[in-house]
Amino acid sequence: MFNEPLKCPRAVLFDMDGTLTQPLLEFPKIKAELGIGSGPILESIAQMEISQRQMAQTILMRHERLAAEHSTLNPGCMETLHWLQSNKISIAMITRNSQECASIILQKHRLAFEVVITREDGPFKPNPFGLAYACNRLAVGPGEAWMVGDGQYDIEAAAAAKVPSIWLSHGKDRYFLALPSKTIVDLHELLTLLKSAKGLQ
Ligand SMILES: [Mg+2]
Repeated sequence: MFNEPLKCPRAVLFDMDGTLTQPLLEFPKIKAELGIGSGPILESIAQMEISQRQMAQTILMRHERLAAEHSTLNPGCMETLHWLQSNKISIAMITRNSQECASIILQKHRLAFEVVITREDGPFKPNPFGLAYACNRLAVGPGEAWMVGDGQYDIEAAAAAKVPSIWLSHGKDRYFLALPSKTIVDLHELLTLLKSAKGLQ
């Protein structure tokens, strides 16, 4: 899967925050307010006592809702999604965010995906469940899809699901060990990669 030219996908699975939209969730601030140190947010909340968990979920939802309402799309997002649609390549969105916030973002930016998977739908990334489920729903094999995301969990989930992964770096150095199939800086570069993969067919 690595260091080979990627085959043009039959489906592209997108992460939401930081990938389709500009990164808005301030994770260190949310973690500080939740008092969970540097641990992963959803996993830390799941381990809390019920009363503490409900309070934490309220705090998280407040941050997520605000981020969704003020969200802006990343440059190249609409152009890339239109290109995929006009080339009959399926698109899915897989997020650790909530159903409510995913809906706010989809409506605000008038986006439509064939499959949308949120944390209410099952084990979330880095668990490969969402990716396997999306491939299944879209009737493509894992090797026929690309997972595109800006986070560690996107790349880890893709590796576990055996889906080629594209890491959107926003120009930063990789801060995790999982190895993406390709690293790109922005969605304009994704479109270039897709067009060249299409040309290889
Ligand atoms: Mg992300």
